[in-house]
Amino acid sequence: VCAISPKAIVSDACASFSTLDDLNRDLKPALSEITQKTDFFSYYRLNLYGKECPFWNDDSGLCGNRACAVNTLENEEDIPLVWRAKHLGQLEGPKAVHPEKSLQEKRGPAKPLQGELGEDVGESCVVEYDDECDERDYCMPEDKSTSAKGDYVSLVDNPERFTGYSGVGPRQVWDAIYRENCFSKDSFPHSASLGSSPPAGPAAFGLKSVLEKKGREQALVEQQKTEPALPFVAETGLELEGECVEKRVFYRVISGMHTSISTHLCWDFLNQTTGEWGPNLQCYKDRLHQHADRVSNLYFNYALVLRAITKLGPSLMDYTFCSGDPSQDRDTKYKVQGLLTQAGTAPRIFDESLMFVNGEGPSLKEDFRNRFRNVSRLMDCVGCDKCRLWGKLQTAGYGAALKVLFEFDNNALAVLVLKRTELVALFNTLARISDSLTAIHEFRLMVEAEELHS
Ligand code: FAD
Repeated sequence: VCAISPKAIVSDACASFSTLDDLNRDLKPALSEITQKTDFFSYYRLNLYGKECPFWNDDSGLCGNRACAVNTLENEEDIPLVWRAKHLGQLEGPKAVHPEKSLQEKRGPAKPLQGELGEDVGESCVVEYDDECDERDYCMPEDKSTSAKGDYVSLVDNPERFTGYSGVGPRQVWDAIYRENCFSKDSFPHSASLGSSPPAGPAAFGLKSVLEKKGREQALVEQQKTEPALPFVAETGLELEGECVEKRVFYRVISGMHTSISTHLCWDFLNQTTGEWGPNLQCYKDRLHQHADRVSNLYFNYALVLRAITKLGPSLMDYTFCSGDPSQDRDTKYKVQGLLTQAGTAPRIFDESLMFVNGEGPSLKEDFRNRFRNVSRLMDCVGCDKCRLWGKLQTAGYGAALKVLFEFDNNALAVLVLKRTELVALFNTLARISDSLTAIHEFRLMVEAEELHS
């Protein structure tokens, strides 16, 4: 079996970039059909507005609040409305609201409510207890103190693309996300070169942080005023070599997600001179072309998420994708079965059995899960609606993939049942990575063409 070891860089394993490119080319049409053309997979329920950033003060000018996003383009007031970051970051299309829990309880937990949600917007979903998380989850449970259970948002109407969200807001979020990779103070990669301890990020806060945040957030803001921004773990590839495989995988998942976001915003970029949307080659060159490790981490994520979906495959073959329209439900099932059958014939490209087994591995699992939950909570600190939507969806998608890979026994496939939101996130996350791989391929061709002509 030719499998990508989590230890390997994708390109040094037998499954090379081109193997994965071929696989992606084969699976892409079926995956796009599923995520773009079925109600079940193209609407996502999330609590987009109801939760405040748990790690720092949303009102602070330093953080990823909406104001940060609005003020990112220079001389914003002079720019036509349609080009402004606030406008670009807004959600499009109708939303359907999740029904109150009391309504769900009346109907009973397991029964689908067909046609109940937003028929006027062409959306209807299984209503289930998908707001509860259990201890195996890598996602962040919904905040039970808020009554809002979220909205259903059309993913097709809100493509992931350039929004103009930049500057201090996203920088602070990315910094905090990468700090989650520091599993202990000792393994913090830059403590020596910084000459001081890293600031207390979400990682240091731990899961009790929401309760304790009030006292700490001010300290964090103060600390960040006085300390230089943290260098990124990305620039410390060599130091990662000495780390155990689990930490490395954690880093790669995050970095690969970052690569995918960067790819999408460069591929679907707004040319502010012409007002046209299209690929921005310079954006790609600056962020990705010179950074083979970042692109490699994207391939790594493709292998990881696809493996999770393949592992889930047998328990999905008979799943009822209930949308309220029986013929569409059958069609969705047919499409998913087609993808799973096709994916099932591919070589196994990721071997999760190597993780959490040797050395300090087993003891790291809970830490790994908690840190990933912290990353998912950090999405509430993202100050642009569309970015937050896709950030939340993708962290939930990776969370679902990690749960399938590491929380379910390979021999107990019957219990591999995910919640609807997890399934939607998982498939759409693979579709995001898949689109990114295609875009990077196109960008590479553009660079080659440019070099030929120069
Ligand atoms: P950033 O992308 O902010 O990166 C900061 C630093 O991280 C870099 O200088 C580099 O040192 C390091 N780094 C970069 N890429 C990697 C990598 N792959 N692996 C490891 N390290 C890396 N903007 C949009 O236009 N549309 C969106 O949909 C969108 N979604 C976002 C979602 C989230 C969760 C976040 C936090 C931000 C999002 N943004 C989005 C903003 C976008 O990601 C950038 O932050 C912004 O474009 C500014 O880019 P930058 O050049 O400052 O570098």
